[in-house]
Amino acid sequence: MPEQQNHATDEPLRLMAVHAHPDDESSKGAATTARYVAEGVEVLVVTCTGGERGDVLNPQYGPLDPEHMGEIRRAEMAAAAAALGVRQQWLGFVDSGLPEGDPLPPLPDGCFALVPLEEATAPLVEAVRAFRPHVITTYDPSGGYPHPDHVMCHRVSVEAFAAAGDPQRYPGLGEPWTPLKLYYNHGFSLARLRALHEALVEAGRESPFGDWIESRVAREIPERQVTTTIRCEQYFPARDDALRAHATQIDPDGFFFAIPRSVEAAQWPTEEFELAESRVPTTLPEDDLFAGVR
Ligand SMILES: [Zn+2]
Repeated sequence: MPEQQNHATDEPLRLMAVHAHPDDESSKGAATTARYVAEGVEVLVVTCTGGERGDVLNPQYGPLDPEHMGEIRRAEMAAAAAALGVRQQWLGFVDSGLPEGDPLPPLPDGCFALVPLEEATAPLVEAVRAFRPHVITTYDPSGGYPHPDHVMCHRVSVEAFAAAGDPQRYPGLGEPWTPLKLYYNHGFSLARLRALHEALVEAGRESPFGDWIESRVAREIPERQVTTTIRCEQYFPARDDALRAHATQIDPDGFFFAIPRSVEAAQWPTEEFELAESRVPTTLPEDDLFAGVR
């Protein structure tokens, strides 16, 4: 495929995907990043934390020494980045863990979600000024999932999008650079869950999505707006390889792999995004994250 250029400057287009933990880049928007890589866009995944407090979710693994979790996850991340074809950079913060219980326990000292906003954003501003992305993706204000690191990932991304181009802010962290568009990833929307569930039931297979749909409806979580739909079923195999690369974190018999890929490609061949901010004119709905930039 031809190299895609930003005609205004003749530079290659650049996409930065900001994520909370290693594995999030493989479960949210992964096929989209693989597609843009294949089309000649430079893609950098930025991972805020080392995922040190992740639970082992693959029953094929026994309990792992928490001391080694960071190291294991770095190796898994490198394999996932290779599967997607993206570059990847760590911001170096420590995973806050997912607090569980009633009442919720306090967050551990020094974790990402407790770092003051400006301090937490500084390395991302530096990364934006070094990589100079035209488009940044992150999570919606709820985090898309109630993990304190996902909410914090949203906050630092919004702050970096606002500040990276301003020479008065975050001085000493590189030449200012103004990214043009900011998007929120959509993971499993209710519409996507329902489509996959119905396809599985119709095919006479067991669906893991029924209870999920019920609890989502019961909790009355408002659905986010879809502004941008990216066709990417050709890159589902790359996404699946990236998911499997996070071997301790992803159950190969779990819901990610419950739907036969041919059925998925026919029912839901896309990934969805919500345009949060744009500094270029664009017309919604879009089918390209670089609409208005090219
Ligand atoms: Zn995460």
